[in-house]
Amino acid sequence: MSVILDEKLELIYQDVLHRNAGETEFHQAVHEVLETLGPVMVKYPEYAERKIIQRICEPERQIIFRVPWQDDKGEIQINRAFRVEFNSALGPYKGGMRFHPSVYLGIIKFLGFEQIFKNALTGMPIGGGKGGSDFDPKGRSDDEIMRFCQSLMTELFRHIGEYTDVPAGDIGVGAREIGYLFGQYKRITNRYESGVFTGKGINWGGSCARTEATGYGTVFFVQEMLKARNDSLDGKTCVVSGSGNVAIYAIDKAMQLGAKVIACSDSNGVILDEQGIDLNLVKRLKEVERRRLSAYTEERSHAKYLPGGNIWQIPCDVALPCATQNELNGKDAKSLVENGCIAVAEGANMPTTPEGIAIFQQAGIAYGPGKAANAGGVATSALEMQQNASRDFWTFEHTEARLQEIMVNIHRNCFETAEEFGAPGNYVVGANIAGFLRVARAMDAMGVI
Ligand code: NDP
Repeated sequence: MSVILDEKLELIYQDVLHRNAGETEFHQAVHEVLETLGPVMVKYPEYAERKIIQRICEPERQIIFRVPWQDDKGEIQINRAFRVEFNSALGPYKGGMRFHPSVYLGIIKFLGFEQIFKNALTGMPIGGGKGGSDFDPKGRSDDEIMRFCQSLMTELFRHIGEYTDVPAGDIGVGAREIGYLFGQYKRITNRYESGVFTGKGINWGGSCARTEATGYGTVFFVQEMLKARNDSLDGKTCVVSGSGNVAIYAIDKAMQLGAKVIACSDSNGVILDEQGIDLNLVKRLKEVERRRLSAYTEERSHAKYLPGGNIWQIPCDVALPCATQNELNGKDAKSLVENGCIAVAEGANMPTTPEGIAIFQQAGIAYGPGKAANAGGVATSALEMQQNASRDFWTFEHTEARLQEIMVNIHRNCFETAEEFGAPGNYVVGANIAGFLRVARAMDAMGVI
């Protein structure tokens, strides 16, 4: 890890390493937060005395379970699923479910840990949690996906609820999967409990703009970072990694605000379209036909498909990592800076390695960490919960306006907190401290729990 911790925080970190052996992504996420908490411990020694940080680093509850299901050939498949209920000081646990073969406890814990601070930053009444499975949805039929989701929910239902734990989507979990999961929950519990899941379909309890929220919110955050530097997105060249839910709507909003998005990617390669990405085509390929991005050049023959390509080598003004963790390393960050990039905002969770973050910060470019920049997704989930609780339904325009207001507030909070703690312009410091303080105050008020 790049930054040396002060003595007390180093001891806490060593304890986290010891108690969570082998969970490298979780270690990375904890270290990144601890790096910024030194000044907080000086200003609020009572939080150190009452071991608030140690308590935050230990999940309240971790559930690991078997998911057996039958594939289309009748063969029995066995997956492992997780739900880590990390912190409920501010509200019910809230965080998505991820289906990807790389999922193991360390990934879910890193995501759940980040979620605590992100959810706190939204200002909404939601705690932090995360879940998922090592199930690989790629190449599976709709029926297989349904059987898997039903089997998973047959165990998960007993742990969740609108006042307990409210899952949503993440990598590999979109509208289709949420439908199957919610359907099985409703069937087992005999309750139409809308508030138990977010990301639902618009005609059965979902919120307008939830699908768009994470990508749109990330771009609203970029807009605020640039505004703080008397600049704007208009006329800027952007690259966006990934081509899933977050990437698609980040591209959409960046284009609406006058940027030209020239590249996106999937785990096989990169599309470079100097004329500007054809978003309708990407949407059709990924959302409707569920094909690989390489098919893009079948219809846009002037575009280039770079198999195994590195999107961060492409010169741009603004880079939006929207695929997965640790997808942008120190070398990539160096290329971006050398090629004139002025802003990076993370639609994905922890996509930049510690070395990459250090390079962005040394170069003085605007760098918005995921905790702050992609918080619009979970914030709109909280708006969905609000609509469900009041049996209300808001228009797209109203919901998007609320989302934008929330992103403006998150930006202001991070910006002002960074200044207050002596690190002007450092959104990592601002986001971690602002998120931590909100959770710490609530935990402290509730006694030793
Ligand atoms: P999707 O499954 O819709 O899309 C993920 C995209 O990232 C796909 O293009 C996928 O390519 C690519 N990708 C996934 N894993 C890898 C990998 N190991 N290497 C390279 N590329 C990869 O997921 P989302 O768009 O929902 O999520 C993207 C990121 O945003 C994640 O980090 C997630 O945690 C974060 N996020 C999502 C939120 C949401 O509301 N959905 C909220 C906040 C954060 P391929 O199809 O080839 O696998």
